[in-house]
Amino acid sequence: MIEQNVKNLLTEIPDKNPFGEKVTLVAAIKLQQPDDINRAIAAGITDIGDNHVQEFKDKYDFINGTPRRHFIGHLQTNKIKYILGKVDLYHSVDRLNLAEELSKRSENAQITSNILLQINIGNEETKGGFGFDEAESAYESVKKLPALKIKGLMAMLPFTDDTALLKSLASHMRGLYDKLKQKDGNFEYLSMGMSGDWKLCVECGSNMIRLGTCIFGARNYNK
Ligand SMILES: *Cc1c(COP(=O)(O)O)cnc(C)c1O
Repeated sequence: MIEQNVKNLLTEIPDKNPFGEKVTLVAAIKLQQPDDINRAIAAGITDIGDNHVQEFKDKYDFINGTPRRHFIGHLQTNKIKYILGKVDLYHSVDRLNLAEELSKRSENAQITSNILLQINIGNEETKGGFGFDEAESAYESVKKLPALKIKGLMAMLPFTDDTALLKSLASHMRGLYDKLKQKDGNFEYLSMGMSGDWKLCVECGSNMIRLGTCIFGARNYNK
């Protein structure tokens, strides 16, 4: 099942988005057991993303191979120390004080941390991230921090089946990404798209999608 899902996805995901960029699939592994994650990796998953620091720590040593590690959930500043140096890309830098703390701790550890700025594109109260209108000034502030490398932007679209709205929001994200990419050669990733909306997101210019349900089936929150 997991193997087949991964195989199907790897065939279904276009090699390139309409902007000619390779599309990277990140498996969202929250609440999944190491065995299942390893099955996905054996089937071709190269990138995995956690939401919770505790889960990241618990599972870390049980993951086979050397997949790239992403952190995609809300990160509390007091928990950075547990994952510092083990994350290839932090998707969810959603506020200035997190960026400052991550830079400070990275500097002390003499490393550079790769990050994406999370943008609250739907302007939703329940979601984190910089507002669309404050994104450029947030970028300028974070850019000054010495031990971070901003590799792009991340967004979660609202849960709605209003396709026109979703397309409009996703395209606005791409527009913002292109604007910042023009002045920053480090920009490489627009992380946008989950199981329900990834096709639309790739069509609108996402080049990194984070899929859980499509790979592992519905999550069991009671475990
Ligand atoms: C859980 C999660 C995903 C994957 O969600 P699915 O709908 O299961 O594909 C993607 N991104 C983030 C930030 C998540 O928390």
